Amino acid sequence: EPIITFEKVNKWYGNSFHVLRDIDLSVAKGERIVICGPSGSGKSTLIRCINRLEEHQQGTLKVDGVELTDDVKAIEAIRKNVGMVFQQFNLFPHLTVLENLTLAPMWVGKMPKKEAEERAMAQLKRVRIAEQAGKYPLQLSGGQQQRVAIARALCLTPKIMLFDEPTSALDPEMIKEVLDVMIELAEGGITMLCVTHEMGFAKAVANRVIFMDQGQIVEQNAPHAFFDNP
Ligand code: ADP
Ligand code: ADP
Repeated sequence: EPIITFEKVNKWYGNSFHVLRDIDLSVAKGERIVICGPSGSGKSTLIRCINRLEEHQQGTLKVDGVELTDDVKAIEAIRKNVGMVFQQFNLFPHLTVLENLTLAPMWVGKMPKKEAEERAMAQLKRVRIAEQAGKYPLQLSGGQQQRVAIARALCLTPKIMLFDEPTSALDPEMIKEVLDVMIELAEGGITMLCVTHEMGFAKAVANRVIFMDQGQIVEQNAPHAFFDNP
């Protein structure tokens, strides 16, 4: 049983712009998929449909056995299982690192504060940033902020992690520290879909690379098929 299934999924923006065209995609548990393709080809929209940040208009999309419809309970169930990391870190600037991490577990998950903090500290250790827990996001480097964003997503113990160009806003010297954390996550067996231009990462981590163009999946293959061609 795949953990994510797209069947003939279509999406339009504003009833006219056909952004996803007949997407068929089946993701097995534990897969590490890198999505690449030109700007505007629909990569971001595709992964945002998985946690319903965008909705598709045609076709069937199932995540962890639940079909994505307008049903609020289905959407809530899926969001609990899908963590997301964006290009812009989307941290709350007026909350400390620790408070950024405990916010959703305490207020959405109704978790007691002590437990939420313990869980948050464990995830901050995992991304090697526990010593910054009391700081505010803007006191950290971009690479550190992105690792906080990853830890925040992990606090909800998701089965699936989505990454939308997680290193594109970072200075070159900070890219590696974020990719290293993502590589460790992949080794831990989490299902991962990642939009990225980091082809070294794709080669090292992905079991499948998907190439999109104009709203379609035009090619998918093991990374060596893309990178080892003569
Ligand atoms: P990619 O991630 O491959 O760069 P996106 O999925 O972000 O592509 O966008 C695909 C196309 O859809 C782009 O042409 C973009 O301008 C358009 N688009 C994205 N979001 C919206 C929106 N909310 N309304 C209208 N058009 C959008
Ligand atoms: P990405 O880096 O994910 O491709 P973009 O820079 O294309 O993002 O878009 C940033 C935001 O603007 C997204 O939330 C997207 O949905 C929205 N957007 C992109 N293109 C359009 C558009 N043509 N009309 C309205 N919103 C858009």
